[in-house]
Amino acid sequence: MIISGKDLSARMKAEMAEKVATFPQKYGRVPHLVVILVGEDPASQSYVKGKGKACEVVGIRNTTILRPATISEEELLALIAELNADDSVDGILVQLPLPKHINEDRIIAAIDKSKDVDGFHPLNVAALWMKQPCTVACTPKGIIRMLDEAGIEISGKRAVVIGRSQIVGLPVAKLLLDRNATVTICHSRTQNMAEITRQAEILVVAIGKAKFVTEDMVAPGAVVIDVGVNRIPETGKLCGDVDFEAIEPKASVITPVPGGVGPMTITCLMENTIECFEKKMNAR
Ligand code: NAP
Repeated sequence: MIISGKDLSARMKAEMAEKVATFPQKYGRVPHLVVILVGEDPASQSYVKGKGKACEVVGIRNTTILRPATISEEELLALIAELNADDSVDGILVQLPLPKHINEDRIIAAIDKSKDVDGFHPLNVAALWMKQPCTVACTPKGIIRMLDEAGIEISGKRAVVIGRSQIVGLPVAKLLLDRNATVTICHSRTQNMAEITRQAEILVVAIGKAKFVTEDMVAPGAVVIDVGVNRIPETGKLCGDVDFEAIEPKASVITPVPGGVGPMTITCLMENTIECFEKKMNAR
C-alpha cells in the first residue's frame, strides 16, 4: 500500500476550510499566519509559496514578509518582536535556513512560544519531551497522522528512525515512543545499520541522501516512511532517501517522494496555525 500524503492532505485541508469558515462569526476573524523569508534561495521560495497556497485553500490569512539576505540579526529580531506584539498575528514562521551571519537558534527562541507554529521553540521542544501540551513540529506530526490514517498500530511495534535532527528524527522518535513503540535511533556513526533496520516493523528515514535505504535493509512487511527530499542532479527530479522501486514490493506500506510526507508537513502547519489561533481566542 502506498500512503498518499497528497490525498490525506487534501481531505484534511477541506475539513479545516469548513472549520475556518465558521471563525468570522465565532471569533470575528480568521487565523493569520506570517511567514518571513530572508534572501532568495529558490528552495525556500518554493516552500514559502506552498505555504501561501495552503493558507488560501484553508482560508487562513497569510502575509509573507520578504527581507534581503543582508538583513542583520538585530533587524530580524526587531521584526519578530513587532509580530509577537501584534495581536492580529497568530502564527509566525521564519523560513529556514537563514544566512550564515544570523544565529538561527536565537531567532527561533525569539518567536513567542504561543505563535511558534513550527514547534521549534525550545519551550515547545521541552514540553514535547516532558509530555506537556505543546505545538508539535509539523513533519513528525504529519508522519504520525499518516500512520494513524493508514490504520497502522504503533503500540508495541519495533520502530527504527534513521536521522536525529531536532526537526525530524528526534521528535518523530519521541512521538513513536509516546505511542508505545520501542524505538531505536540510527545516525551517521551507527555501525551495521542494515542489521538494525531489518528489525524494524516501522522504519522512518530522515537523512537527506538519495536512495540510501536499499532493499536488503528492509524486512518483508515493514512500514516505510520516507522523509528525505533529494534532487537527482541528472534529471532534476525529486526522490527520497529510500529506493522506492526496489522496496515498494517488499514493504506492507510505503510513502512516496514527492507526494508523501511533504504535503503533510504543510497541512500540519495549517493545523498548528488554527490550534494557536483557537487557543488564544478561547482564552479570552
Ligand atoms: P539534517 O538536520 O541534515 O539531519 C540529517 C540526519 O541524518 C543526521 O542526524 C545525520 O546523522 C543523519 N545521517 C546523515 N548521513 C547519514 C548516514 N550516512 N547514515 C546514517 N545517518 C546519517 O536533516 P533533516 O533536517 O532531519 O532532514 C532530513 C531529510 O528530510 C532531508 O532530505 C530534508 O530535506 C528532509 N525533510 C523533509 C521534510 C518534509 O516535509 N518532507 C521536512 C524536513 C526535512 P548525525 O546526527 O550523526 O550527523
